[in-house]
Amino acid sequence: MDELEKIRREINREDEAILEALAARRALSRRVIEAKEKSGAPIRDSAREEDMLSDLISRGRARGLDAHLVTRVFQEIIDDSVRSQQLHLLDYAKSDLKRVAFQGIEGAYSELAARKHFAPYLDRTLFAGAPGLRQVIDAVEEGDADYGIVPVENTAAGSINEVYDLLSVSQLSIVGEEVLRIEHCLLGLEDAPLAGIRRIYSHPQALAECVKFVSRLPDCQAMPWPDSAMAVKKVREEKDPAVAAIAGEEAGRIHGLRVLQRNIEDQPNNFTRFLVLARKPADVDLRIPCKTSLIMATPHEEGALLKALSILHQHRINLLKLESRPIPGMPFQYLFYMDFEGNAAEERVAGAIEKLQSATTSMKLLGSYPMQQRPRTSPRIEALAAGGPREEGEWTEPAPEKKAKSGLRLVSRDARPEDTVIAVGGARIGGEGFVVIAGPCAVESREQIHQCARFVKECGGQLLRGGCFKPRTSPYSFQGLGFEGLEMLAEAGRQYDLPVVTEVLSPSDVEPVARLADVLQIGARNMQNFSLLAEAGRSNRPVLLKRGMMSTLDEFLNAAEYIMAGGNHRVILCERGIRTFETATRNTLDLGSIPILKRMTHLPILVDPSHAAGRRDLVVPLALAARAVGPHGLIVEMHPDPDHAMSDGPQSLHFHEFADLMRRVYGG
Ligand code: PEP
Ligand code: MN
Repeated sequence: MDELEKIRREINREDEAILEALAARRALSRRVIEAKEKSGAPIRDSAREEDMLSDLISRGRARGLDAHLVTRVFQEIIDDSVRSQQLHLLDYAKSDLKRVAFQGIEGAYSELAARKHFAPYLDRTLFAGAPGLRQVIDAVEEGDADYGIVPVENTAAGSINEVYDLLSVSQLSIVGEEVLRIEHCLLGLEDAPLAGIRRIYSHPQALAECVKFVSRLPDCQAMPWPDSAMAVKKVREEKDPAVAAIAGEEAGRIHGLRVLQRNIEDQPNNFTRFLVLARKPADVDLRIPCKTSLIMATPHEEGALLKALSILHQHRINLLKLESRPIPGMPFQYLFYMDFEGNAAEERVAGAIEKLQSATTSMKLLGSYPMQQRPRTSPRIEALAAGGPREEGEWTEPAPEKKAKSGLRLVSRDARPEDTVIAVGGARIGGEGFVVIAGPCAVESREQIHQCARFVKECGGQLLRGGCFKPRTSPYSFQGLGFEGLEMLAEAGRQYDLPVVTEVLSPSDVEPVARLADVLQIGARNMQNFSLLAEAGRSNRPVLLKRGMMSTLDEFLNAAEYIMAGGNHRVILCERGIRTFETATRNTLDLGSIPILKRMTHLPILVDPSHAAGRRDLVVPLALAARAVGPHGLIVEMHPDPDHAMSDGPQSLHFHEFADLMRRVYGG
């Protein structure tokens, strides 16, 4: 046996041990739920989960395992445990044979969603396709099926109106939901060249999600078909290489077409949410986080909807979705569909529903059902940064706000006395928290940005930065990798679960950059590029606005006002140093601006010690000094090999220096 073969056998043995351990752990979580059932203890205890994960990370580190790996593996394991504990408490687990109706034929997205939803009971479940959504509902109402699954909204194309209209007249209850990631493929016969495709069949919703892709194909016509898998069958029957279908890969495999192109949806991260319907409402254990859906009509008078919604607010209920649909036969009058957090069996929610009865002209409860998305356990940043718990009360909060400058209608504290907190992925910027954004000045290669992402995550950094369009003083300097770099940045962010920040230089790039970046940066040199500010104001992405190096705080806040006045209220300010007569540093970090800005505005404020210093030896001391004046976080540059960085090498931290910065910033 050669060496490699021997090693592989050892690997197989280790994998076997991992499987054994997983099975043993799952068996324990089954015992846990039995114990919890007796004691009534909650299924989740987030403080315990956080402690457990933080502890596993430090023990993993002692064995040479990185935090990201330990986090990912144990997040899955914890999630599996939560999921199986919840499943144990569901009605589904109690019933025998289940018959599930879906729209379409085998391979349709609805069928995939149904199989995903009923995965733990596949041996006891029969799936049956129906020609339309109406027929799915009929099958359940008439008792030919126990459950029906229908798509209700898509993250790119929006709500499926037909389902909302059917729900208003049906007697069924919503008993579950399922979210399916949609990855559309163009499917065709063998070797069909893309440019030769003249006709594409699919469900109108799927066509709507790929409009841009289809419009780029010359002389190609989109043909709506009842269902995506039926479209695949149709193409198979037509036997014409100029005809293709849009559907999932699975449908192509089942019905014998090949993938001509993958991921053709216009928006990445395309998800469809499905509802599971049954004749009787679900009785969901109060320990399982639920959503409740209802339909209501409000009196045709001033403030009626507001009154109804404020009932939710009074009962501290989080509204998840609000949709309106015209009432049939009553022009310009509407029904409202609401999804909110909570279970109608909880006292608080029941109280709100009762009040809603009297604030509405009609109301129909559609059901309370388990929420599909479970929050993931996160380790504590302090544990990641490998420091102890942060010391309390070591710095002074800014004094009470002073009167805002006139003209700052939206950014001033007068407009909003409480801090704005901006959620980006799992990070929250503003308020009490302190985040660190880190990464290279510029994305240089796939390898480089992946190395940075991995290290940032390992040390507890919460967002990844990386410039793709670089504003360089000299036209001969490296200008960034553009959209190619942005793809690399987004991929690294996805892989390490870090939202990404990148600079946008021109108004026309705002929309395409916003498709892949989680936060748009407007750099110091562009702080008063008013057309760029206006365009960023039209975007839905948060904007990280850097202080111009020649700008006063008033000008800085007015630049933020431009973005907010455009409708985008998620602006993060960043002090990055101003130009003074001093030449020993690249810029002079104006730390006094932080407590002043905190008095003047509710927006979150970060400090960038890298661009201020221009020298890496000053970055850690300036970061620590910055921490003391109370910003909401830092943005710093780091690089695997700063001496060979293509931009801002002299100020970029080596990895070990970044780890040191994190320890010191969070360690106290
Ligand atoms: C940057 O963040 O890489 C950058 C160019 O920053 P600034 O606009 O602050 O110079
Ligand atoms: Mn830079």
